[in-house]
Amino acid sequence: MSEKKSVKNKEMQWAVILWYIHLHVLGLYGFWFALTSAKWMTVFFTLLLTILAYLGVTVGAHRFWTHRAFEAAWPLRLFLMLCHTIAGVGPIYDWVLYHRLHHKYYGTDKDPFNHKKGFLYSHFMANVLSWHMDYDEMIRLIDMRDVEQDGYVWFQKKFYWLLFGIFGILLPVNAPLEYWDESLSGAIVITGLLRFAITTNISWLVASSRLIWSLEGKKIPPDSISLFFITHSFWPAYHYMIPWDWKCGEYGTYDSGVATFFIKMWNELGMVDYLRTSETEDIRDMLHQMAKKKLTLENGLNELEELSKYNAKKTRIIPRH
Ligand SMILES: [Zn+2]
Repeated sequence: MSEKKSVKNKEMQWAVILWYIHLHVLGLYGFWFALTSAKWMTVFFTLLLTILAYLGVTVGAHRFWTHRAFEAAWPLRLFLMLCHTIAGVGPIYDWVLYHRLHHKYYGTDKDPFNHKKGFLYSHFMANVLSWHMDYDEMIRLIDMRDVEQDGYVWFQKKFYWLLFGIFGILLPVNAPLEYWDESLSGAIVITGLLRFAITTNISWLVASSRLIWSLEGKKIPPDSISLFFITHSFWPAYHYMIPWDWKCGEYGTYDSGVATFFIKMWNELGMVDYLRTSETEDIRDMLHQMAKKKLTLENGLNELEELSKYNAKKTRIIPRH
C-alpha cells in the first residue's frame, strides 16, 4: 500500500470531534463562570489540579516515561501516574507509544502529528482522525519494553477508566460541593470541563509546540539569528534532535519553567536521579568529531546520547552533602 493511499484512509471520528467541540464550548462557559460567579476556592482548586495534571503529562509521560531523561523513585512514579490520570488524556502507555511514534517518523507522512501539515492538523486533527492503515506494522517497530515493565503504567492501563472515574472526575468534582458549598453546575463546568479542556490542550501542545515556539512555518526569514532572541526559541526543534535532555521544556523554554523546577526540586529531595543532558561543550565536541571522522548526524547523536548516559552515571556516584 502506498503512503499516499494509506493516509487517505484516515477518517474523521465524528463522535470524538463532537466531544471536543462540546468540551471546548463548555470549558469556555466554565471560564466565564469562574470569572463571574464561582467561589475563589473552586478557582484555586482547579488551578492546583491543572498544575498536577500538567506535571503528569510533561514530567511524567513525556520526559520520564517516553524519553527516560532521568530515573525516578517509586513514590514519585506513583505520584506522576496519578497526576497523569487526573489529566484525562488516556493511559500513559498509549501516550508514550504515540509520542515515540511521533519522534520516530517525525515530519513524515507516518508521523501522526506531522507538523508540516500545519498547526490545526498537528494540534487538533491528528487527535480526531482514525489511525494510519499501517499502524499495526508501525507500532511493532517501537520499543516499549521499558514501559511494559513498569508496574504503575501497567496498573494505570488495566484500571484506567476506574482510576480516571475516581481521581479524574468523582473526587475533583465532589470536593467543591462537599467542602466549600460550590454549586453543582459550577463544580462540573469549572473543576470538570474547563480543567479537561486545558489539560487536553496541554497534552496536544507537546506535539504541536514546534509550530508556536519555533520559526517553523512563519513568514519571516529563518536566516537571521536575531529572530531567535526577539521572537521564538529553537528549543522545540532541539528536542527532536536531543530528546533525552531533561532540561528541554515542552513549550519553548530551556532549563526553566514549572516542570523543570519540579524536577530540580525532586532531585534535591533524592526522588529524581540519573539526569541526562548534553552540555554545549559535548555538542561542540560531537560536531568536531563528526567533521573529523566523517560521521553521519545520526552517529554523532548516538555518541552524544551515550555520553549523556555516562555523565549521568558519573554525577550519580558523587556523594551529596
Ligand atoms: Zn518528545
